Amino acid sequence: MSARGGIDLGGTKVQAVVIDAQHQVLGQARVPTPTEGGPQAVADALGGAMREAAEAAGVEVGSLDGIGVGSPGGVDAGAGTVRGAGNLPGWAGTFALGPALQDALGVPAHLGNDVQVATDAEAALGAGRPFHSLLGVFWGTGVGGGIVLDDRPWIGRGAGGELGHVVVKEDGRVCPCGRKGCVEAYAGRGAMEARARKLVEEGRHTDLFKIMEERGRTRLTSGIWERALEHGDPMAHELIDRAVAAIATGVASAINLLDVEAVIIGGGLGIRLGQPYADRILEEMRPHLFRDDRPPAVLVAELGDLGGAIGASLLVPGAAPTPATA
Ligand SMILES: [Zn+2]
Repeated sequence: MSARGGIDLGGTKVQAVVIDAQHQVLGQARVPTPTEGGPQAVADALGGAMREAAEAAGVEVGSLDGIGVGSPGGVDAGAGTVRGAGNLPGWAGTFALGPALQDALGVPAHLGNDVQVATDAEAALGAGRPFHSLLGVFWGTGVGGGIVLDDRPWIGRGAGGELGHVVVKEDGRVCPCGRKGCVEAYAGRGAMEARARKLVEEGRHTDLFKIMEERGRTRLTSGIWERALEHGDPMAHELIDRAVAAIATGVASAINLLDVEAVIIGGGLGIRLGQPYADRILEEMRPHLFRDDRPPAVLVAELGDLGGAIGASLLVPGAAPTPATA
């Protein structure tokens, strides 16, 4: 039996899957991303998660056709290195993650950008299947983006697709990236939480942090935002409305430039809030669309939490399905 592995390396968790030739998930494992020990500790965690997923699938790691890894930071796929993965602890320099995994697991390892592989997965196997060109928008702690043009990923010189850092307000709010007025400055869950804390300091009321304490969490997760919205919390609605407007403005500008067929909304918040919010994003895009009579489809990602790991597994040569007939 032919099987391959996929790993999504995130800032808080490592998700590993084992997939068969028909792209069915045979086994999976999830472990926390190490908070200390630097890149080698992260590589060890990836190896451990992959072994666990293989065990769950009932296959030997060494028998896999290969494994793919979706990583943040600057990925050099040819060299198998990751540079400056800022949201991973102690990963300021360059680390040969591919060779390290290959040594540890005894199978070829292939690296790709985390957001791009999640976009490719939706394009090949998820909500993007009917389309040849699309924009993936991953609305979570940050706002990530990926582009597929004529059935091929477009990453420019390596940094393309950064929808989260498209500017929607000149000299606007400071973004976690340090620049001003980016989509992520208004729509990233991290930026929204910082904004909510500031508003509370200024004397505004919200139930967001009460719900967070009730749930024993230390951050405003997507589930907490959803609950606050259901309860009609005014601050939650205000901040989410602002986020929707920022995403819609940024996406509409991207559509005016690229005119892709579809926009796939994923990420923790995007998946949690679902199609009603994707519909709202489309409505708020309309005033900014140059061709407003022919908007793209705006759909929620279908592969959910496993999309990143499934997409990573498509990096293994021969794994990707051939695109729908052109
Ligand atoms: Zn930014």
